[in-house]
Amino acid sequence: MMELVFLALGSNLADPLQQVDIALLALGRLPQTSLVVCSSYYRSRPMGPKNQPDYLNAVVVLKTALAPEELLAHTQLIELKQGRDRQKPRFGPRTLDLDILLFGNRMIVTSRLTVPHYDMHNREFMLYPLEEIAPNLRFPDGTLLVNLLRNIARNGLIFWDKTHRVRYW
Ligand code: ATP
Ligand code: MG
Ligand code: MG
Repeated sequence: MMELVFLALGSNLADPLQQVDIALLALGRLPQTSLVVCSSYYRSRPMGPKNQPDYLNAVVVLKTALAPEELLAHTQLIELKQGRDRQKPRFGPRTLDLDILLFGNRMIVTSRLTVPHYDMHNREFMLYPLEEIAPNLRFPDGTLLVNLLRNIARNGLIFWDKTHRVRYW
């Protein structure tokens, strides 16, 4: 069975534009998986320590027959291949972060995976790109994305550059 997965990408080290472009290529080559659409690239303020570069963020939709933890294993491997240092403190700068926001309509809580992403309802850099590609989105608990967005300020979120656009595969 193919499921639609929403994945958040983030990078603020070692040429974020290149990091995210490469990650998209890698995601497109995953087994039993295809890319569907990617949001524009956004520039956001760091949410942890402020003495780090802005982030490049985007949200991509995949169609996959992988199981959730199989997909996680793949996305973590992509992070590692792109130089993600897991010893660094959480919320510090990173070359690439791939977070599973939604996996179909499933609610998943295991030791390795919490889906929907536990904090996405607080993060403008996840919600606004989501709105761009899925404006009518409803979460597994019935919440509408548009209702979450009412309470979330853009916090300086802008497009990464002038060539912003949604891409379909
Ligand atoms: P945050 O999760 O707050 O965005 P982070 O992305 O920097 O922080 P990571 O270091 O990338 O955190 O991941 C920490 C752990 O989170 C991973 O080892 C992974 O097992 C777990 N995890 C739980 N739920 C998810 C999810 N939905 N997507 C990705 N990783 C998840
Ligand atoms: Mg994250
Ligand atoms: Mg992560």
